[in-house]
Amino acid sequence: MGILYIVSTGPGGIEYLTPRASAALEQSEYVIGNRFYIEHLSPLLDGKEIIFSSMGAEVERAQRAAELARDHIVSMVSGGDAGVYGMASIVLEVLEHAGYDGVVEVIPGITAATMAASRLGSPLSGDYVTLSLSDLLTPWDVIEKRLELAFQMEIPVALYNPRSRGRPHNLGKALDILSRYRTKDTPIGIVKNASRPGEEMFIMTLAQLADNDDLVDMHSIVIIGGAESRVWQRGDDVRGIITPRGYHNKYKY
Ligand code: SAH
Repeated sequence: MGILYIVSTGPGGIEYLTPRASAALEQSEYVIGNRFYIEHLSPLLDGKEIIFSSMGAEVERAQRAAELARDHIVSMVSGGDAGVYGMASIVLEVLEHAGYDGVVEVIPGITAATMAASRLGSPLSGDYVTLSLSDLLTPWDVIEKRLELAFQMEIPVALYNPRSRGRPHNLGKALDILSRYRTKDTPIGIVKNASRPGEEMFIMTLAQLADNDDLVDMHSIVIIGGAESRVWQRGDDVRGIITPRGYHNKYKY
């Protein structure tokens, strides 16, 4: 009987892969995943049978992994955290459907929201919401409803899949909804390719981003500040975004 590891590979750099994830890869005979994520891991994959699968072919990829895992040790890799807009749920659904009774382990990882938050300072310090603007699996009217509700809570919102060539207008539509609930100077952080080559970071206001949303692409995550989030700035130097947790109400510092 085999083992199926669903391995979260973190946001990019191998330094953000957990030791548990490396150990699972090390032990595996087969490694399956999207070429983009597998290429980041190449130093760890010597001697493994690699199966590349393309974006959009997630169901076949999951079925292939489930089949192989009947009598092999297999790692299905998924970027960031596999349980956050990743491969974990479809793999588990396929295993459930196939009556799989082998071992399966989901190995967690650093997701884009917390990786990007660390680059920006501490914008997600208390309650926050994550939403994906991809309407491939969720209808757009459902996403709009969730955006409305999230923005009314006035807490930070992390937007995954904010914009791509196939969906160039979703971010603009989300910012229009945001403008109904929040002021134009709401701070927003954007991190592109966090922990990967070509990493970039921007901190701006809602008004500035609304005029320039084409700087956001599918390798970016957008973190919208909550009502209490503020920019830490010294002179012209923007140091980051802070969302206070409320210590200032209790302590002097
Ligand atoms: N499972 C992944 C998310 C997959 S959805 C995770 O937990 O992070 C893909 C989206 O995640 C991208 O469109 C982008 O919004 C975000 N993302 C993933 N990796 C990123 C990175 N290194 N830098 C910035 N955004 C990233």
